[in-house]
Amino acid sequence: MNRVKKKMSIDKFLLANGKDSTTLFWLKTRQNPCFVFIKVPSTKTQASDYYQLGDLLTPEKRAIRLKVRECMEKEIAPIMTQYWEKAEFPFEVIPKLGALHISGGTIKGYGCPGLSITGSAVALAEIARVNASCSTFILVHSSSAMLTIGLCGSEMQKKKYLPSLAELSTIGSWGLTEPDYGSDASALRTTARKVLNLKLSPGGWILEGQKRWIGNNTFADVLVIFARNTATNQINGFIVKKDAPGLQSTKTENKIGLRIVQNGDILLKKVFVPDEDRLPGVNSFKE
Ligand SMILES: Cc1cc2nc3c(=O)[nH]c(=O)nc-3n(C[C@H](O)[C@H](O)[C@H](O)COP(=O)(O)OP(=O)(O)OC[C@H]3O[C@@H](n4cnc5c(N)ncnc54)[C@H](O)[C@@H]3O)c2cc1C
Repeated sequence: MNRVKKKMSIDKFLLANGKDSTTLFWLKTRQNPCFVFIKVPSTKTQASDYYQLGDLLTPEKRAIRLKVRECMEKEIAPIMTQYWEKAEFPFEVIPKLGALHISGGTIKGYGCPGLSITGSAVALAEIARVNASCSTFILVHSSSAMLTIGLCGSEMQKKKYLPSLAELSTIGSWGLTEPDYGSDASALRTTARKVLNLKLSPGGWILEGQKRWIGNNTFADVLVIFARNTATNQINGFIVKKDAPGLQSTKTENKIGLRIVQNGDILLKKVFVPDEDRLPGVNSFKE
Protein backbone atom coordinates (compact mmCIF):
# COMPACT_ATOMS: atom_id res chain seq x y z
CA MET A 1 0.00 0.00 0.00
CA ASN A 2 2.83 2.37 0.87
CA ARG A 3 4.49 1.65 -2.46
CA VAL A 4 1.29 2.52 -4.31
CA LYS A 5 0.91 5.79 -2.38
CA LYS A 6 4.51 6.78 -3.02
CA LYS A 7 4.27 6.07 -6.75
CA MET A 8 0.96 7.94 -7.00
CA SER A 9 2.35 11.01 -5.32
CA ILE A 10 5.39 11.11 -7.61
CA ASP A 11 3.27 10.89 -10.76
CA LYS A 12 0.84 13.47 -9.48
CA PHE A 13 3.68 15.86 -8.69
CA LEU A 14 5.11 15.54 -12.19
CA LEU A 15 1.81 16.23 -13.93
CA ALA A 16 0.31 18.79 -11.58
CA ASN A 17 2.85 21.22 -12.96
CA GLY A 18 1.42 20.69 -16.44
CA LYS A 19 -0.95 23.03 -18.19
CA ASP A 20 -4.36 21.60 -17.47
CA SER A 21 -6.52 20.18 -14.76
CA THR A 22 -6.19 16.53 -15.77
CA THR A 23 -3.82 14.66 -13.53
CA LEU A 24 -2.31 11.28 -14.42
CA PHE A 25 -2.03 8.73 -11.67
CA TRP A 26 -0.13 5.44 -11.89
CA LEU A 27 -2.10 2.82 -10.06
CA LYS A 28 -0.19 -0.32 -9.33
CA THR A 29 -2.14 -3.28 -8.07
CA ARG A 30 -1.06 -6.93 -8.13
CA GLN A 31 -3.38 -7.82 -11.00
CA ASN A 32 -3.64 -4.68 -13.15
CA PRO A 33 -0.98 -1.98 -13.08
CA CYS A 34 -2.48 0.93 -15.02
CA PHE A 35 -2.57 4.66 -15.64
CA VAL A 36 -5.73 6.57 -14.83
CA PHE A 37 -6.61 10.15 -15.72
CA ILE A 38 -8.50 12.02 -13.02
CA LYS A 39 -10.04 15.43 -13.59
CA VAL A 40 -9.29 17.65 -10.60
CA PRO A 41 -11.50 20.65 -9.67
CA SER A 42 -10.70 23.90 -11.44
CA THR A 43 -9.54 25.49 -8.17
CA LYS A 44 -6.47 23.28 -8.52
CA THR A 45 -5.51 24.85 -11.86
CA GLN A 46 -3.15 27.33 -10.30
CA ALA A 47 -0.65 29.25 -12.43
CA SER A 48 2.78 27.75 -12.57
CA ASP A 49 4.78 30.69 -11.34
CA TYR A 50 8.08 28.78 -11.23
CA TYR A 51 10.20 31.82 -10.42
CA GLN A 52 7.62 33.35 -8.06
CA LEU A 53 7.55 36.52 -10.10
CA GLY A 54 4.12 37.22 -8.63
CA ASP A 55 5.80 37.98 -5.31
CA LEU A 56 7.46 40.99 -6.97
CA LEU A 57 4.14 42.55 -7.95
CA THR A 58 2.65 45.43 -5.97
CA PRO A 59 -0.71 44.76 -4.24
CA GLU A 60 -2.42 46.80 -6.97
CA LYS A 61 -1.01 44.61 -9.76
CA ARG A 62 -1.76 41.44 -7.81
CA ALA A 63 -5.36 42.63 -7.59
CA ILE A 64 -5.47 43.01 -11.40
CA ARG A 65 -4.02 39.54 -11.78
CA LEU A 66 -6.56 38.03 -9.38
CA LYS A 67 -9.49 39.81 -11.04
CA VAL A 68 -8.51 38.61 -14.54
CA ARG A 69 -7.60 35.11 -13.32
CA GLU A 70 -10.94 34.59 -11.61
CA CYS A 71 -12.88 35.67 -14.67
CA MET A 72 -10.77 33.58 -17.05
CA GLU A 73 -10.88 30.42 -14.93
CA LYS A 74 -14.50 30.55 -13.80
CA GLU A 75 -16.30 32.13 -16.72
CA ILE A 76 -14.22 31.75 -19.86
CA ALA A 77 -12.14 28.56 -19.64
CA PRO A 78 -15.17 26.23 -19.30
CA ILE A 79 -16.74 27.35 -22.59
CA MET A 80 -13.74 27.68 -24.89
CA THR A 81 -13.25 24.10 -26.07
CA GLN A 82 -16.55 23.99 -27.96
CA TYR A 83 -15.61 27.17 -29.85
CA TRP A 84 -12.13 25.84 -30.60
CA GLU A 85 -13.66 22.70 -32.11
CA LYS A 86 -15.91 24.77 -34.38
CA ALA A 87 -13.26 27.49 -35.03
CA GLU A 88 -15.89 30.07 -34.08
CA PHE A 89 -15.50 33.24 -32.05
CA PRO A 90 -17.15 33.17 -28.59
CA PHE A 91 -19.05 36.47 -28.71
CA GLU A 92 -20.50 35.67 -25.29
CA VAL A 93 -17.10 36.38 -23.67
CA ILE A 94 -16.94 39.97 -24.94
CA PRO A 95 -19.06 41.52 -22.11
CA LYS A 96 -17.09 39.51 -19.54
CA LEU A 97 -13.77 40.80 -20.91
CA GLY A 98 -15.23 44.32 -21.16
CA ALA A 99 -16.23 44.27 -17.48
CA LEU A 100 -12.58 43.63 -16.52
CA HIS A 101 -11.78 47.17 -17.71
CA ILE A 102 -8.39 46.29 -19.17
CA SER A 103 -9.07 47.09 -22.82
CA GLY A 104 -6.98 50.08 -23.88
CA GLY A 105 -4.25 49.00 -21.42
CA THR A 106 -1.88 51.89 -20.86
CA ILE A 107 -3.95 54.58 -22.61
CA LYS A 108 -4.96 57.33 -20.21
CA GLY A 109 -8.34 59.06 -20.53
CA TYR A 110 -11.07 58.48 -23.14
CA GLY A 111 -12.61 55.77 -20.92
CA CYS A 112 -9.40 53.70 -21.02
CA PRO A 113 -7.95 52.10 -17.88
CA GLY A 114 -4.57 53.92 -17.90
CA LEU A 115 -2.74 50.90 -16.46
CA SER A 116 1.01 50.83 -16.00
CA ILE A 117 2.97 48.79 -18.59
CA THR A 118 3.42 46.02 -15.99
CA GLY A 119 -0.25 46.12 -14.97
CA SER A 120 -1.35 45.82 -18.59
CA ALA A 121 1.15 43.00 -19.25
CA VAL A 122 -0.03 41.11 -16.14
CA ALA A 123 -3.65 41.32 -17.34
CA LEU A 124 -2.76 40.06 -20.84
CA ALA A 125 -0.55 37.28 -19.43
CA GLU A 126 -3.45 36.06 -17.29
CA ILE A 127 -5.71 35.90 -20.33
CA ALA A 128 -3.02 34.10 -22.36
CA ARG A 129 -2.44 31.65 -19.52
CA VAL A 130 -5.98 30.32 -19.91
CA ASN A 131 -6.54 30.83 -23.63
CA ALA A 132 -4.06 32.03 -26.26
CA SER A 133 -6.82 32.77 -28.80
CA CYS A 134 -8.58 35.01 -26.31
CA SER A 135 -5.38 36.95 -25.63
CA THR A 136 -4.72 37.31 -29.38
CA PHE A 137 -8.21 38.77 -29.78
CA ILE A 138 -7.54 41.33 -27.02
CA LEU A 139 -4.03 42.08 -28.32
CA VAL A 140 -5.30 42.90 -31.81
CA HIS A 141 -8.19 44.96 -30.43
CA SER A 142 -6.39 46.75 -27.61
CA SER A 143 -2.63 46.72 -28.17
CA SER A 144 -2.80 47.12 -31.95
CA ALA A 145 -5.99 48.98 -32.96
CA MET A 146 -6.66 51.05 -29.82
CA LEU A 147 -3.03 51.88 -29.11
CA THR A 148 -2.49 53.07 -32.70
CA ILE A 149 -5.48 55.41 -32.34
CA GLY A 150 -4.27 56.43 -28.84
CA LEU A 151 -0.74 57.20 -30.03
CA CYS A 152 -1.33 58.46 -33.58
CA GLY A 153 -4.95 59.65 -33.62
CA SER A 154 -6.25 63.21 -33.42
CA GLU A 155 -8.04 64.45 -30.31
CA MET A 156 -11.33 64.12 -32.17
CA GLN A 157 -10.58 60.54 -33.25
CA LYS A 158 -9.61 59.53 -29.70
CA LYS A 159 -12.83 61.00 -28.28
CA LYS A 160 -14.91 59.41 -31.01
CA TYR A 161 -13.49 55.88 -31.10
CA LEU A 162 -11.69 54.99 -27.86
CA PRO A 163 -14.50 55.05 -25.24
CA SER A 164 -16.63 52.35 -26.91
CA LEU A 165 -13.53 50.31 -27.82
CA ALA A 166 -12.48 50.45 -24.14
CA GLU A 167 -15.88 49.07 -23.13
CA LEU A 168 -15.64 46.44 -25.86
CA SER A 169 -19.01 47.61 -27.10
CA THR A 170 -17.23 48.16 -30.43
CA ILE A 171 -14.36 45.96 -31.66
CA GLY A 172 -11.13 46.96 -33.36
CA SER A 173 -8.99 45.32 -36.02
CA TRP A 174 -5.55 46.27 -37.36
CA GLY A 175 -4.52 45.68 -40.96
CA LEU A 176 -0.84 45.86 -41.85
CA THR A 177 0.11 42.44 -43.32
CA GLU A 178 -0.54 41.73 -47.01
CA PRO A 179 -0.49 38.51 -49.05
CA ASP A 180 3.07 39.18 -50.24
CA TYR A 181 4.32 41.39 -47.42
CA GLY A 182 4.43 39.99 -43.86
CA SER A 183 7.78 40.36 -42.09
CA ASP A 184 8.76 43.02 -44.65
CA ALA A 185 5.57 44.98 -44.00
CA SER A 186 7.17 48.31 -44.89
CA ALA A 187 7.03 47.22 -48.57
CA LEU A 188 3.23 46.96 -48.51
CA ARG A 189 1.35 47.78 -51.72
CA THR A 190 -2.13 48.89 -50.65
CA THR A 191 -2.51 52.46 -51.88
CA ALA A 192 -4.14 55.62 -50.52
CA ARG A 193 -4.94 58.25 -53.15
CA LYS A 194 -6.00 61.74 -52.11
CA VAL A 195 -9.31 62.89 -53.54
CA LEU A 196 -10.35 66.51 -53.49
CA ASN A 197 -13.41 68.03 -51.96
CA LEU A 198 -15.97 67.25 -54.65
CA LYS A 199 -19.54 68.48 -54.69
CA LEU A 200 -21.03 65.15 -53.69
CA SER A 201 -18.48 64.01 -51.12
CA PRO A 202 -16.11 65.56 -48.61
CA GLY A 203 -12.36 65.43 -49.19
CA GLY A 204 -10.65 62.20 -48.34
CA TRP A 205 -8.78 59.16 -49.58
CA ILE A 206 -9.41 56.19 -51.84
CA LEU A 207 -7.91 52.97 -50.49
CA GLU A 208 -7.17 50.04 -52.81
CA GLY A 209 -5.43 46.77 -52.04
CA GLN A 210 -5.54 43.60 -50.00
CA LYS A 211 -4.64 42.56 -46.44
CA ARG A 212 -4.09 39.05 -45.09
CA TRP A 213 -4.11 37.36 -41.66
CA ILE A 214 -5.98 40.27 -40.11
CA GLY A 215 -7.35 39.38 -36.66
CA ASN A 216 -11.03 40.18 -35.82
CA ASN A 217 -11.52 41.19 -39.48
CA THR A 218 -14.90 39.52 -39.98
CA PHE A 219 -16.71 41.34 -37.17
CA ALA A 220 -14.67 44.45 -36.23
CA ASP A 221 -16.51 47.78 -36.22
CA VAL A 222 -13.35 49.84 -36.66
CA LEU A 223 -10.39 48.77 -38.82
CA VAL A 224 -7.05 50.56 -38.68
CA ILE A 225 -5.59 50.13 -42.18
CA PHE A 226 -2.11 51.01 -43.37
CA ALA A 227 -1.63 52.07 -46.99
CA ARG A 228 0.97 53.76 -49.19
CA ASN A 229 0.28 57.42 -49.97
CA THR A 230 0.53 57.64 -53.77
CA ALA A 231 1.86 61.21 -53.58
CA THR A 232 4.57 60.80 -50.92
CA ASN A 233 5.20 57.03 -51.30
CA GLN A 234 5.12 56.85 -47.48
CA ILE A 235 2.92 54.62 -45.29
CA ASN A 236 -0.15 56.36 -43.82
CA GLY A 237 -2.80 55.05 -41.40
CA PHE A 238 -6.58 55.23 -41.78
CA ILE A 239 -9.65 54.35 -39.72
CA VAL A 240 -12.09 52.38 -41.88
CA LYS A 241 -15.60 51.59 -40.69
CA LYS A 242 -16.98 48.09 -41.23
CA ASP A 243 -19.83 49.19 -43.47
CA ALA A 244 -17.63 51.26 -45.83
CA PRO A 245 -18.63 50.55 -49.46
CA GLY A 246 -15.96 48.49 -51.24
CA LEU A 247 -14.70 46.79 -48.05
CA GLN A 248 -14.86 42.98 -48.10
CA SER A 249 -13.73 40.69 -45.27
CA THR A 250 -13.38 36.92 -45.56
CA LYS A 251 -12.34 34.37 -42.96
CA THR A 252 -9.23 32.17 -43.21
CA GLU A 253 -10.56 28.62 -42.93
CA ASN A 254 -8.94 25.40 -41.65
CA LYS A 255 -6.42 26.93 -39.25
CA ILE A 256 -4.65 24.40 -37.03
CA GLY A 257 -3.74 26.89 -34.29
CA LEU A 258 -5.45 29.81 -32.53
CA ARG A 259 -8.66 28.52 -34.09
CA ILE A 260 -10.91 30.85 -32.09
CA VAL A 261 -9.16 33.92 -33.49
CA GLN A 262 -10.97 35.00 -36.63
CA ASN A 263 -8.21 35.84 -39.11
CA GLY A 264 -8.83 36.70 -42.68
CA ASP A 265 -8.35 38.70 -45.83
CA ILE A 266 -9.56 42.23 -46.33
CA LEU A 267 -10.19 43.42 -49.84
CA LEU A 268 -10.29 47.19 -50.35
CA LYS A 269 -11.95 48.12 -53.63
CA LYS A 270 -11.94 51.89 -53.95
CA VAL A 271 -12.88 52.37 -50.28
CA PHE A 272 -13.48 56.04 -49.48
CA VAL A 273 -12.11 57.31 -46.16
CA PRO A 274 -12.91 60.93 -45.19
CA ASP A 275 -10.04 63.23 -44.20
CA GLU A 276 -11.23 63.18 -40.58
CA ASP A 277 -10.43 59.42 -40.42
CA ARG A 278 -6.84 59.64 -41.58
CA LEU A 279 -4.53 59.16 -38.56
CA PRO A 280 -2.46 62.37 -38.42
CA GLY A 281 0.38 60.69 -36.52
CA VAL A 282 1.19 58.07 -39.20
CA ASN A 283 3.19 59.79 -41.93
CA SER A 284 5.75 57.06 -42.58
CA PHE A 285 6.39 53.44 -41.59
CA LYS A 286 8.77 54.59 -38.83
CA GLU A 287 5.91 56.25 -37.01
C1 LIG B 1 -2.81 34.30 -35.56
C2 LIG B 1 -2.29 35.44 -36.37
C3 LIG B 1 -2.83 36.72 -36.17
C4 LIG B 1 -2.38 37.79 -36.95
N1 LIG B 1 -2.97 39.00 -36.78
C5 LIG B 1 -2.57 40.02 -37.56
C6 LIG B 1 -3.24 41.29 -37.46
O1 LIG B 1 -4.19 41.47 -36.68
N2 LIG B 1 -2.82 42.28 -38.28
C7 LIG B 1 -1.80 42.14 -39.16
O2 LIG B 1 -1.48 43.11 -39.84
N3 LIG B 1 -1.16 40.93 -39.29
C8 LIG B 1 -1.52 39.89 -38.51
N4 LIG B 1 -0.90 38.67 -38.64
C9 LIG B 1 0.15 38.52 -39.63
C10 LIG B 1 1.56 38.43 -39.01
O3 LIG B 1 1.93 39.62 -38.44
C11 LIG B 1 2.47 37.92 -40.14
O4 LIG B 1 2.15 36.57 -40.29
C12 LIG B 1 3.92 38.13 -39.84
O5 LIG B 1 4.25 39.49 -40.01
C13 LIG B 1 4.80 37.24 -40.71
O6 LIG B 1 4.53 37.48 -42.05
P1 LIG B 1 4.28 36.28 -43.07
O7 LIG B 1 3.19 35.38 -42.49
O8 LIG B 1 4.07 36.84 -44.43
O9 LIG B 1 5.60 35.40 -43.05
P2 LIG B 1 6.94 35.67 -43.89
O10 LIG B 1 7.30 37.12 -43.81
O11 LIG B 1 6.77 35.06 -45.24
O12 LIG B 1 7.95 34.83 -43.04
C14 LIG B 1 8.00 33.40 -43.11
C15 LIG B 1 9.22 32.93 -42.34
O13 LIG B 1 10.42 33.50 -42.91
C16 LIG B 1 11.17 34.19 -41.91
N5 LIG B 1 11.73 35.42 -42.51
C17 LIG B 1 11.08 36.38 -43.18
N6 LIG B 1 11.94 37.34 -43.59
C18 LIG B 1 13.16 36.97 -43.16
C19 LIG B 1 14.46 37.55 -43.28
N7 LIG B 1 14.66 38.70 -43.92
N8 LIG B 1 15.50 36.90 -42.70
C20 LIG B 1 15.29 35.74 -42.05
N9 LIG B 1 14.08 35.12 -41.90
C21 LIG B 1 13.05 35.73 -42.47
C22 LIG B 1 10.15 34.56 -40.83
O14 LIG B 1 10.78 34.68 -39.57
C23 LIG B 1 9.23 33.35 -40.86
O15 LIG B 1 9.74 32.28 -40.11
C24 LIG B 1 -1.33 37.58 -37.89
C25 LIG B 1 -0.79 36.32 -38.05
C26 LIG B 1 -1.25 35.26 -37.33
C27 LIG B 1 -0.64 33.89 -37.56
